[in-house]
Amino acid sequence: MAGNWKMYKTQAETRAFFSAFLPLVSDATNCDIVVAPPFTSIAAAVEAAKGSNVAISAQNNHWQRDGAYTGEISVGMLAEAGCRYVIVGHSERRQYSNETDDIVAQKSRAVLSAGLTPIVCLGESFTERETNRTEEVLAQQFIGGPGALTGEEFSRILLAYEPVWAIGTGRTATPEIAAAAHRFLRRCVQDQFSAEASASVRILYGGSVKPDNIQGLMAQPELDGALVGGASLDPKSFVTIVKAA
Ligand code: PEP
Repeated sequence: MAGNWKMYKTQAETRAFFSAFLPLVSDATNCDIVVAPPFTSIAAAVEAAKGSNVAISAQNNHWQRDGAYTGEISVGMLAEAGCRYVIVGHSERRQYSNETDDIVAQKSRAVLSAGLTPIVCLGESFTERETNRTEEVLAQQFIGGPGALTGEEFSRILLAYEPVWAIGTGRTATPEIAAAAHRFLRRCVQDQFSAEASASVRILYGGSVKPDNIQGLMAQPELDGALVGGASLDPKSFVTIVKAA
């Protein structure tokens, strides 16, 4: 269960979140819990979560190890800061920073090279779903992104199905729509890699996950967890979501 804080929470707000959140999830041992603060709050989050069952993720990385890339952050820097995961290819980055499938593949490789776990996001837009292009788009994003990794690399990533029309809109995919997309992605994994890879890859669902819809979503065996934006900002609501796992 992963929380994506996007561009929210200062360092002080991060510390306050963890003070409230950690005691409430200390007994949640049946799932991995991940929080992705903005870059400037990563150190505060790592310090606050030290020794707990919560791992810290970044929301983005550069694909090069170092170099003249003003304003960018390398995976080595994220690893040194204490991150264990990085969200790659979030639709907001695809939309506002023109991230292509190839960049998603390159960023994923960089994350893996630093020993961290990429959470690779893909998902169709509203128009693509309305025009029956969901599977075509998912297949394309898969082949050009995580599908371009080697089998060994792929075995170390997480996927997140995030329909763009459901992110931050309050319009969650129904559990059935989410499950169908996850089944399709597993078929893509099987075609590109193997039946074993398809069965073992963990696929999170993301898109307006809230305390009142998490039960229905997690009741679908196809869903292995959730990537949660807005509802992960409040400790109590994220606890309810984590406990649904
Ligand atoms: C996200 O940021 O990945 C996300 C799913 O956001 P929200 O839960 O707010 O829709």
